This record gives sequence, structure tokens and C-alpha cells, in this order.
Amino acid sequence: MNAVVRSSKFFIGGKWVEPHGREVAEVRSPADHSLIGRAALGDAVDADRAVAAARNLFPIWSQSSIDERLAVLRRMRKGFDEAAPAIEEHLIREIGLTRMVAQGQSMMCRAHFDSMLEILPEYPFTLSMSGGFEIVREPVGVVVAITSWNAPVNQMLCKAVPAIAAGCPVIVKPSEHAPLCGILLAEAMAGADLPPGLFNLVNGRGADCGQRLAEHPHVDMISITGSVAGGAAVAEAAAPTIKRVHQELGGKGPNILLPDADFETVVPRSVLGAMMVGGQVCAAPTRLIVPAERFEEVARLAVAAAEQIVVGSPDEPATTYGPLMNEVQFVRVNRMIEQALADGQPLLTGGPGRPDHLSTGFYVRPTIFGPVAPDADIATQEIFGPVLCILTYRDIDEAVEIANATDFGLAAYVQSADPVMARAVAGRLRAGYVTINFPAWTAAAPFGGYKRSGNGRQYGVWGLEEFLETKTIIAS
Ligand code: NAD
Repeated sequence: MNAVVRSSKFFIGGKWVEPHGREVAEVRSPADHSLIGRAALGDAVDADRAVAAARNLFPIWSQSSIDERLAVLRRMRKGFDEAAPAIEEHLIREIGLTRMVAQGQSMMCRAHFDSMLEILPEYPFTLSMSGGFEIVREPVGVVVAITSWNAPVNQMLCKAVPAIAAGCPVIVKPSEHAPLCGILLAEAMAGADLPPGLFNLVNGRGADCGQRLAEHPHVDMISITGSVAGGAAVAEAAAPTIKRVHQELGGKGPNILLPDADFETVVPRSVLGAMMVGGQVCAAPTRLIVPAERFEEVARLAVAAAEQIVVGSPDEPATTYGPLMNEVQFVRVNRMIEQALADGQPLLTGGPGRPDHLSTGFYVRPTIFGPVAPDADIATQEIFGPVLCILTYRDIDEAVEIANATDFGLAAYVQSADPVMARAVAGRLRAGYVTINFPAWTAAAPFGGYKRSGNGRQYGVWGLEEFLETKTIIAS
């Protein structure tokens, strides 16, 4: 298999180079544990090599014209497009995504390119201000993109594309739990005739290769997508060199059902939203907050929706969600379900262990608890598994209070037939990305978190500006 052979190298300075780190990870299918490939995991020396390649290009790429950047982005997009079917097949095997989700992630990747190709020609990199000074927006420098495994290629590209558009060379370090998809992406970029050092890929563990990248004096910015602990570790490593740190971290999405919402439609959609990708989505609406007097009705609709969910092989078209990513995830999620039961939280459906029809693979049942106490661990901690909590409120103030009562503030949801009321509630939520009645996704709208969900924004103009410095020039 090609991936097994090619994954022993890293893409640095426009070439495939032998890793210095000696560790080799076996990558196994989460569905049946078969061997998919082997990937080298690099060390601090590999990190240094990638930084040197990116640093070398910075003086040139930072001065590139908008036309040059557009041409590069178009070639990258073409390279991605050609590789997309193979990448999707691979994501099904390495991560356990269903084909529909894998294709959805490719759609998002294309949208990041298209969005930047649209923004870049119009973006005001130089502004003459009325106070008699000039503002120049310049690339921040060498950028490191550290990513998690749940939407890996999308995460790599939604950082690399705007960074490159801004004039920054990029080093991508994917999760050590899903190292092969980065190799496939780098193969696509290797064929896109990029300036050597513009797009670099090293695989490695967070505590080793990642740590070195985060503390490296020649790295100017880190953009991490990962857990709160990972984000904090990166910020700590980056602190002595005062580099910019952009964090896209965990979530515990509240989903408020206002009394006038169409429960028959909205409850099943909410359950599916929470269970997508087996709940391994930072923005998942995992806390369904409903009027207390309607709890029985919501519980009935939610359980019925969960019973429609097909857990199974990610290859099967009928599958709603496949296995969880790996054993660590499987054990952790099951433990949290067991702990919630031990704490006396009422189980409505699901529970620990695999669904009855599956005897192997990291499959977890669609699980719903309710009514859950708002301060219960299961209602406040990120589970990153197919577990939905239903919480009840007596009035809108209490609904908002419950929604805001976690350390997270990433995605939040409001369901209502009344746009004015829904907008008023949305305005009171402490979250970076609030949607009303499940609108379609757009790459133009910024995404990011409040509180421990992170800082900074991805996508659209805001995503580009993350990678820009602001220079003031004043003449006497
Ligand atoms: P993780 O924090 O374990 O790892 C994320 C990345 O950080 C990996 O590449 C890892 O190697 C690296 N890392 C960890 N410690 C590091 C260190 N000390 N120095 C440098 N790099 C380090 O997270 P995970 O398990 O891969 O991902 C799941 C988490 O990601 C969940 O909490 C989820 O909510 C979050 N997530 C957030 C978003 C978002 O956009 N906000 C999107 C997807 C996932």
C-alpha cells in the first residue's frame, strides 16, 4: 500500500526527507483493528528542520504579490481536488468517518480555498487613515498548524490556506493518532509546484515534536486545534518567545429549544447533530435545554430518533456513524457513561458497551441522559462521544443561565419559530458561534470560541487576519 511506504518520510522544504525520529506508529482501523499503515513520528530535530525550511522562505513569500499568492492557492486547490477522492477513502479507514462526512469535509476544504481566492484580491492590505497615518497589514511570520484527528484535513487546510494567503510559510503537524491523512495531503501539495518551504509536514507526538515547534524561537505563530489541555500546553511552551497562539479547543454546545419551536422536527435534528461522527465534533449540540413541562415529550422524540440511528461500518451507506477513533476514546467515553450512571443520572437510551449487533471495533451506543442536573459532570465536561444530555428550564433566564454554565463557549444553538425571540436569546449566549434553526454552513462566517474553547477565529476575512500583523507608518 502506498501510504505505508510514503509515510516513512516528511515533506520539508519541497522534498520528502527521511525522519530523524526513530519511532514508527502502527495505524489501525478503528472499525476492525486491521493494519492500515505505518507512520514515522518525528522528534525535535525534525521540527527544527521544518522550521528552518519555512524560515528560509519567509523573506521571499512575505513579499509575494497578491497575484502570486492567488496562483499558488489555485494550484493547491487543484492538487487537493485531484486527491480528494483518495483522501476521503482514507479518512473512512483511518478515522472511521462515514463517506458522507468525509465528502462533507472535502466540501469544506474546497470552500476554504474558494473563500480565500475571493477575499484576497479585495483585501485592504494598505490603508491611508484620515489621521495622517498609514496602516499596513503584513504576514505574521512562520506559522505552525497543530491539528487534532476528527476533521484532520479540513483543520490543516483551514489554517494553511489563509496563512499562505497572508504571506506565511506553514508547518503542519497532524495528530499522532491520525498521521497518515497528513501524508496524503502533503502528497497532493507536493504535486502543486509550490515554493519549497511554503507547505511543510512533520508527524510527531505533541509532547515531543509538537512541543519543540511550540517553543521554537523561529516560529512566530501557532494555531492549534485540540483539547483544552493541548491548547494550554502549547500556550505554555510558546510563552517564553511571546509568539501568537490561536486556539480552537473543546466544546459542550448548548441547544436551547424555545417553547414555540416545532419539536417534532427539531428534536430529531438535535439528536442527529449531537451524534454526528459519534459525537466527536467540537461544535456538537450535546446539551439539549428544553422547557421543563415538555420534558416527557422531548424524551420520547429523542429516544425515537436515537433508535433510528444506525451504528456500524463506516463503509456502509446506511450507517449514521461509525466507530470512535481509537481505544483511548472508546474507553474514556464508556467510562464517562458508567460514571454518569453511578452518579444517578437518568439513562433514557443507550448505555455503556457496544451495540448488540457489533462484537468488535470501537463502537458506542447512541446514549441519552435526562433530565440531567446542570452541574453534573456529564452535563459540564466534554465527552467527545455519542452522548446527549437533556436539561430542563423553567423560564428563558434559566435556559440562558444553564447554557452559559460551563467552561466552554464554542458553538451554541437556538431553536424557535420566532426570529426576534431567537435572536434575543442568541445575543445572551457566551459562545463564539451561535446558530438559529440549523442554518447551512458557510466558509465566510468566522468560527471560534469564548472562554476555554479558545481564542481567535477561523474562516473568512477573520481567518485571514489571524495571520496578519498591523503596522502603523506615520510621517512628520
Ligand atoms: P489533543 O489536545 O490531544 O491534541 C491536539 C493536537 O495537539 C495534536 O496534534 C497533539 O499532538 C498536539 N499537542 C498536544 N500536546 C501538545 C504539546 N504539549 N505541544 C504541542 N502540541 C501538542 O486533542 P485531540 O484529542 O487530538 O482532539 C480532540 C479535541 O479537539 C477535543 O477537545 C475537541 O473538542 C477539540 N477540537 C476542537 C475544534 C475546534 O475547532 N474548536 C475542532 C476539532 C476538535
